[in-house]
Amino acid sequence: MNATTDPAQALLDLYCRELKLPGLRKAAPAVAREAAEANQSYTAFLTTCLAQEITSRREHRLAGRLAQARFPAPKTLESFDFLALPDLPKAKVLTLATGAFIRAHENVICLGNPGTGKTHTAIGMALGCIQAGARVRFITAVALAQELLAAQQDYRLPRYLKSWQSIDLVVLDELGYLGLGPGGPLLFQFCAERYERGSLLITSNLDFSRWIEVFGDPSLTAALLDRLTHHAHVLLFRGESYRFRESHERLQATGPLPQSPTPRASEEGGADGSDSPVA
Ligand code: ADP
Ligand code: MG
Repeated sequence: MNATTDPAQALLDLYCRELKLPGLRKAAPAVAREAAEANQSYTAFLTTCLAQEITSRREHRLAGRLAQARFPAPKTLESFDFLALPDLPKAKVLTLATGAFIRAHENVICLGNPGTGKTHTAIGMALGCIQAGARVRFITAVALAQELLAAQQDYRLPRYLKSWQSIDLVVLDELGYLGLGPGGPLLFQFCAERYERGSLLITSNLDFSRWIEVFGDPSLTAALLDRLTHHAHVLLFRGESYRFRESHERLQATGPLPQSPTPRASEEGGADGSDSPVA
């Protein structure tokens, strides 16, 4: 008898829908069959049913939170080559990826030259935070400033700011590549409102001393830095551009007269630093 003709199955289907148990509804036929075959106790069977529902909810929530985060690229800490940046404390990065700093309403600030892996690491840490249950949203500083300006122009700034309150961690990428103009004070307001209420993970190519170039106002910049750095983990990305190094290596490897036909390990998966020692 199939699901549509078996009255017990149909009723189970109905109850699962009413109680909003999609994971159990999907898994129930197989779980019941396996329980019968293994001559399982009723308790073991019920436990498996509930475990299926829990797993399905976790997966569903994770997928939703990943979509909500809007990461620009699927980067992970496993694919980050920590050996390329010996000064970057790997153990600290991995600890931040557990999301404990979010519960303490602390911030993370990644500073360094372009191409040194700030955005990659930021996404990797934020991914870990999502897996630990946090709500995350990734946005560039310029995009956020533009959204804030648009919200202000439409007289919906308070509502717009409020819409960010449910986000536990805002990843603010690329602060400093472009000046923010009239968006500067609004971005200040955004960051100030999160102070001790939510976390920020900021990446910037500018040292703190040059943030004034972004915000354009010395006292505003000082006030922002005061708040941001009060509870902050600062990660320094000191090294040459990874992109530049990779293309340079590739160019050298594809020179006109290669010495030997040895395959180049760096071309694929060469950036995998998963087995690199803790820095
Ligand atoms: P930044 O944000 O500092 O400008 P990105 O994080 O965008 O740099 O890195 C540039 C590119 O190089 C990305 O594709 C990134 O995945 C890669 N990359 C940078 N550093 C590393 C590293 N240490 N290991 C693996 N990939 C890296
Ligand atoms: Mg970047």
